[in-house]
Amino acid sequence: MMESMKQSNHVANYDAVVVGAGFSGLYTLHRLREAGFSTHVYEAGDGVGGTWYWNRYPGARCDSESIYYNYTFSEELYKEWTWTSRYPEQPEILRYLNFVADKFELRRDIQFKTRINAAHYNEETNRWQIYLNNGTSVSAKFFITGVGCLSAANIPNFKGVQNFKGDWYHTGHWPHEKVDFKGKRVGIIGTGSTGVQAIPVIAAEAEHLTVFQRTPQYCAPARNHPYDPEYIRKTKENFSEIKRQMRESQGGQPVPIPTKSALEVTPEERERVYEEAWEKGGLGLFSAYYDITINEAANETVAEFIRTKICQIVEDPNVAEKLLPSYFYGTKRPIIDTNYYETYNRDNVTLVDVKKAPIEEITPNGLRTTDGEYEFDTLVFATGYDGMTGPLLKMDIRGKDGVTLKEKWAGGAQTRTYLGIANAGFPNMFMITGPESPSVLSNMPVSIEQHVEWIADCIEYMQKHGVETIEANVDAEEAWSKHCREVAESTLFTKTDSWYTGANIPGKPRGFLIYLGGVGVYRQKCDEIAAKGYEGFSLLSSSQTVDLA
Ligand code: NAP
Repeated sequence: MMESMKQSNHVANYDAVVVGAGFSGLYTLHRLREAGFSTHVYEAGDGVGGTWYWNRYPGARCDSESIYYNYTFSEELYKEWTWTSRYPEQPEILRYLNFVADKFELRRDIQFKTRINAAHYNEETNRWQIYLNNGTSVSAKFFITGVGCLSAANIPNFKGVQNFKGDWYHTGHWPHEKVDFKGKRVGIIGTGSTGVQAIPVIAAEAEHLTVFQRTPQYCAPARNHPYDPEYIRKTKENFSEIKRQMRESQGGQPVPIPTKSALEVTPEERERVYEEAWEKGGLGLFSAYYDITINEAANETVAEFIRTKICQIVEDPNVAEKLLPSYFYGTKRPIIDTNYYETYNRDNVTLVDVKKAPIEEITPNGLRTTDGEYEFDTLVFATGYDGMTGPLLKMDIRGKDGVTLKEKWAGGAQTRTYLGIANAGFPNMFMITGPESPSVLSNMPVSIEQHVEWIADCIEYMQKHGVETIEANVDAEEAWSKHCREVAESTLFTKTDSWYTGANIPGKPRGFLIYLGGVGVYRQKCDEIAAKGYEGFSLLSSSQTVDLA
């Protein structure tokens, strides 16, 4: 055990300790506290919000429609809050989460500016000992992680970063005060969802922006707009139906599951459907036909549609050529943008292809690729995250026999979970939107609510039946992981290098850690398992297995 942990000063005992005060942690606190469990949340930031606390970069907004990107556990809350536009900006989402924290008086059980360094399961007490970065420790019967899937920033290990004389930022750790780009030469590395949002906004302010692109992306216009009050009124009126549809859907939004193949319609009909989706804005292209993410030929129809749009929007054919993506559409996160491709028509923007001429090092004045040096005053890393497993493995989590989560998952390659909620060998630990659950390939608040409710129901069940510990069985875990892999392998997702597969982090073992079966199907499976007395889990009361079947 680390020296600091041996010396840690034990300060409290709780029923449940929760990591993180984002969408997951806030609702877990509320739900467990309402059920009478003493619950405490630890949050590294000095405010609530999680992802929306940290991601303050220019242009940050959500690409789920706001009316669906909120909690639905409380009809009163849903009706009290009014979104201003279709795709909410980061400050508005952060205001929403603060509103939730105020309404349910959550702050009194959240300790801010505190990180959990380690959580160790004690087999003698059946409790988790949790070590904080302030040198103290607490214990809890349940250890629940609400750390988010994308909170461990990836800053590539370029030679020379420390020599750069200007300011540099990672988008996921953006300063609270405004970063002034006026009169500045700015460089940005990365053209994922984040880069695509930031690039047009920075370009509008900076003297010059140089974009370093490794993989060109498929983007479709967001066509964000303010909401008509009448539309909002109707949405609130239809709360129950919208909630039902979100919960039963594929992706967590009330969008009908497509039934037609892109290949069974005429090219003219397909073009009409794609054009309509493009004009409407948003993620409509992704869900236009059921086989877009499973059939290469179907996928190519939408990929080619977007490439044609890029060539029409971008005036310089050489720049347009560099922006044409070639991977399977949708197998990296489909992006919705505001003036992304149009930004390359500006005189103050340069696009550099770093796949062709890779980055060699960061220099005192900028950056050198194999083609030459680029100078700028400010450098922005929009280089993404060590997704899914990264935030969990940043903590020293140890289960039975002192086995670490890192050892159990072999750093990623052997990641096995039961339902993305629990791990064999880690009793009474629950993960919210963990690896192998729908998580990032769904509308997050819907998946978060489902996990929180399932976990809280489970804890209440345990209390009612005198159960001391719950632990996933190895065979159930193996079967779930196998099922996840099989579903993923039946799609095109596994054929592309992306952060979904771990390919964005050098040396990270590959695997596809998101359940692609859909939110509705997944909920049903979880509910069935609970209804069968938590099938696939071992439930123990002090020293005996409780047979609750
Ligand atoms: P990302 O999708 O992983 O994109 C990172 C970008 O940095 C990619 O263009 C990547 O190139 C590039 N990059 C990484 N390492 C590099 C290197 N060593 N050299 C050159 N380029 C490098 O990260 P993100 O844009 O932050 O988005 C992550 C996820 O966050 C999204 O997929 C989405 O789930 C979520 N997100 C959502 C929203 C939204 O709701 N609108 C907004 C932002 C983020 P390669 O593609 O070649 O790897």
